[in-house]
Formats: sequence, C-alpha cells, structure tokens
Amino acid sequence: MIMLDSRLIRLQHELKRNKLDAVLLLDPVHLRYYSGFSGSDGALVVTPAQCYFRTDSRYISQATAEVRAASVEVHTTKHAELVKLLQYLGAKRVGFEAVTLSVAELNQLSELDSAVVWEPLKHLGELRQVKDYAELECLEQAAAINATAFEKILPHIRPGVTEREIAIELEYALRCCGGEDKAFDFIVASGWRGAYPHGVASDKIVQAGELITIDFGTRKSGYYSDETVTLAVGEVEQKLRDIHACVLEAHDLALEALSPSVLARDVDRVARDYIEACGYGKYFGHGLGHGIGLAVHEGPTLSPKSEVVLTAGMVFTIEPGIYIPDYGGVRIEDTVLLTNDGYRALTSVPKKLRTLPIE
Ligand code: ZN
Ligand code: ZN
Repeated sequence: MIMLDSRLIRLQHELKRNKLDAVLLLDPVHLRYYSGFSGSDGALVVTPAQCYFRTDSRYISQATAEVRAASVEVHTTKHAELVKLLQYLGAKRVGFEAVTLSVAELNQLSELDSAVVWEPLKHLGELRQVKDYAELECLEQAAAINATAFEKILPHIRPGVTEREIAIELEYALRCCGGEDKAFDFIVASGWRGAYPHGVASDKIVQAGELITIDFGTRKSGYYSDETVTLAVGEVEQKLRDIHACVLEAHDLALEALSPSVLARDVDRVARDYIEACGYGKYFGHGLGHGIGLAVHEGPTLSPKSEVVLTAGMVFTIEPGIYIPDYGGVRIEDTVLLTNDGYRALTSVPKKLRTLPIE
C-alpha cells in the first residue's frame, strides 16, 4: 500500500499548496488512484492529515475489501452526508475536480452549505502523469494483451470481411486474452475510410489493394492500452506505401527525440516537420500523442501548443498520421514509457508495413 500512500502524500501536498482544508473526489478514476476502490460510485474526502471514503450500500463490501488509507463508511444521502462530513471537519475551502464534476452536482453541493467555498482543481490529472511501479505493471500487461490478441485475429483480416467483423473478432480476442473491456470503440478504417482519423468500424467491406488502419486497446486492472497498426491487404499502390513509410519515419524520429526534460511540443514538432517535408503537412491535423493510464486519454498532451516538460516515468502515445480525403490514410501508434535514457515501448505489435496474403 506504499504506492497509495505516496499518491495521497502528493495530493495532500497539493492541498496545502492551494491552501485548501479538504478536497472532494468523486471521479472513479481518482477514487481508484488514491484509495484502491475499483467500483463506479463513491466519494473520497482528503484533508491534509486524513482520508474518508464513503459509498452506498451496493459497494460497501467491495470498498471495505479494497480501500486502503481511508476510513470507510456507508452513506444513504450522498451529497447531504458529504457536506455534513465537511462541516464536521471544519472545512471551509474545499477543492473539487474541475474537469469532471458537473455544474449540476457542484450547485447541489453549494446549496447544501453556502459557507463552503468550492475551489476548482484544474491540474489534478497532472498528479497521475508519472506512473509508479504498480501502474507500470498493469500498463505492460494491457499492452501485452494487445500483442497476443492482434496476432490471433490477423487471419481474419482479408478481402470480403467487414470492418465491423474485424472489430468484433479483435474485441473477442482481447477479452479471451485477459482484457477487462475494450478501451474505446475500435477504429477499423479501410481504403478511403482511412482518411477518417476516427473512422470507427463500419459495414464497409475490406478489399484487396487497400490499407487498413486498426486503432485498438483494452483494460487490465483498470489501466488501458492504446495502439494503432496500418496494414496492407494484399499489394497496395506505391503512393500508399510512401505514405506509410512517411508516417513510420515520423513515428520513429519522434521516439528517438524522447528524453527527460524535452518539451512535449518539440517532440510533436519533430514528427510534424518530417511529415511536412514529405509534402503531407496539411493532412496531419491532430496532436502527436496523449498520456494513458487509468484513463485512455490523460496528461501529458503532446501537441504543437503543449507546455508540458516530459519527465521520466510518464507513459504516453506517439501516433502520427496522414489522412487524405477521398483517398486513404495511415496512422501508427505506440504507447511508450519515458525513461532516463530515452524510452521503452510498452506496445509491441510490429509497425513496419505488413502485407497480408489475400489467397
Ligand atoms: Zn489509439
Ligand atoms: Zn491514442
């Protein structure tokens, strides 16, 4: 439980820095990170010295088994009892999750005690950016499941099947390999649909001579994997091969640019410059990558505007792409850990262009 303690210590330091008497956490991601609770409904009140976990009767056994470093009690009227607890603690300035708490819920809390000053904590997510050992193990396991499941379904990717069928096979394989759930609706975009960066699997039939982009992931012990592979279904024309080679080189150059203390936007720039030099700059519209952990998308953001200084222990994706309307596209994505001397890839499906047999 040392990990949870050190996470709480960082949060309590943040409280003191913001001169807060307490923070109220309701987001299941934060509940899991700070208390170990893996259910979907609960509340954690953290003061500079103590932690209180509250949940309803459905989750009390689970909470008693999972929650560490906090006293666990059942509540029946969630918000009213949380405000009572804050009153009991004498908390006047209370932090809340600015990114995830709804305005309606905040209003409800405010109306219960108008003397409490609610302070938005916009940077709470940043406390989760550097992963500890326990988290890395889960992220590695999730990434390993990706690799095993993907190899399993390769024979299913052939002319005549629909994108949706491939997505279903992949989801099934990930679950069979130990994945808890799909990380998101998989992107399976073949041929002209490859031009859609978020082209979730459709009923389009895969044809010979097309590229197919598959963006997928799973969850293990609460932690996500995220990876994108672009394959050739039979031989594809030279321009598609060139685009793939360009994206792969941009991906590799970005990886080589990784080191502690480098600015996230500078890594984005390395990939973007290369794609621009190849003449495809206007077809790479999104950021280079995002952090991943208990949420599929979290800090740090790697984009042209990102102010983040990358730090050893951060886990994020590198995912350049080229999307040409009415023609096709390529994205290549790996999830990596930033280390003291560069990076270590967690995802391991080969990214070099593979040409699948079409029989
Ligand atoms: Zn992805
Ligand atoms: Zn991603």
